[in-house]
Amino acid sequence: MTEPGRPISEGEREAFALDAADPGHRELFDVPPWPDGYYPDVAYFAGNSLGLRPKATRSELLADLDAWAELGVEGHLEAGRPWLPYHELLTGPAARLVGALPTETVVMNSLTVDLHLLMVSFYRPAPDRYRILIEDSAFPSDSYAVRSQAAWHGFDPDDAIVRVRPRDGEDCLRTEDVIARIGPDVALVLLGGVNYLTGELLDIPAITAAGHAAGAVVGWDLAHAAGNVPLRLHAWDVDFAAWCSYKYLNAGPGALAGVFVHERHHPADDRAGRPRFEGWWSTEQATRFAMAPLSRPPRSAEAWQVSNPPIFAMSPVRTSLELFDRIGMDVLRERSLRLTAYLERLLAGITPSRPLRVITPADPARRGAQLSVRIGGGLRAGELTKRLRFEFGVIADAREPDVVRLAPVPLYSLYHDCRRAVEALAEAVPETA
Ligand SMILES: *Cc1c(COP(=O)(O)O)cnc(C)c1O
Repeated sequence: MTEPGRPISEGEREAFALDAADPGHRELFDVPPWPDGYYPDVAYFAGNSLGLRPKATRSELLADLDAWAELGVEGHLEAGRPWLPYHELLTGPAARLVGALPTETVVMNSLTVDLHLLMVSFYRPAPDRYRILIEDSAFPSDSYAVRSQAAWHGFDPDDAIVRVRPRDGEDCLRTEDVIARIGPDVALVLLGGVNYLTGELLDIPAITAAGHAAGAVVGWDLAHAAGNVPLRLHAWDVDFAAWCSYKYLNAGPGALAGVFVHERHHPADDRAGRPRFEGWWSTEQATRFAMAPLSRPPRSAEAWQVSNPPIFAMSPVRTSLELFDRIGMDVLRERSLRLTAYLERLLAGITPSRPLRVITPADPARRGAQLSVRIGGGLRAGELTKRLRFEFGVIADAREPDVVRLAPVPLYSLYHDCRRAVEALAEAVPETA
């Protein structure tokens, strides 16, 4: 993989040896080429933003698409993968991925839409308990979603939304600081399991337990956690959660989201008698086509479904979830820890002499596959990632003004990719005198 005539460096030799010993599953993915580049493929570090396409996705989607041509409406029951119960093919793998009972998960809609549907049930503000706790560096969609929910219930969003911040001079949150903010005024805690900007993995079980002790409902946005770190949502007693499927789950741009609702909140079991928004997919499947005027919601997360789901959008999610199911999240986490530690070690070799600083927690238990690098020296993140891409074939993600995010993804990233990224950064960012 090196230029003819160029000697392989010690470091590169080490990376190739690590890749031979710990290869991952790159052969299952289409890695974008680096046209006219030094290496055939790009070194892809943006899987936390949009995961790469599994090779199987195309043929499986085409098979589902062809069932429509061959069967028309009869495909609902007669397609190779019948459309009527199609979502059930996703439920088991999704449940295993997040540590849920199969009745506790469903794949539907997009993430922010699902957060709204879930808040219909789980944000029930009262005059003395109406606040929503989020992290100050929440993904903007979550911030807008909770603000609009508070406003829709007649509260002033500036007053109703509590944003927890890192301490002065720190980049990440401390569990005890989050917990300390969950007062008797907080109705809902809605945090990102892994923060999109810093890559920090919060202590989901501890914060969930503390939120419950304080009388709050606790939900999690797992957009950056699902497919990245092992989750045990049922055992952790999480009330609800949602995650998109296009980041670590590799199901394609805008892919359908997953939802978790703890079984104690399922219709008929929920002592709070929470409301839900309903449609014909909220009623039990057995009598759905009786077309009765009143719904009979199932005792499962499927009761939160509204519309009949888009089969051709579910197909790539199914393919991806089956990959995770086959390989296993715990196995992937092990490789992820090794790969991220390697990237961290290489970065440590170049950051002290440059205006670069890793802001992701150094403790592997407090992060997933992402290392966020804060850049100084007047460099802008967007300009830097452009150089990384066009001069070095390294795809990283910029969060303006000053954060570059690198995600070595255990399914398909290589140790050699990590080396390429760090060598590119070293060349693109001058040493400070
Ligand atoms: C990626 C991401 C989103 C995106 O929301 P969509 O509804 O899928 O567009 C929302 N929240 C978080 C925390 C994210 O990481």
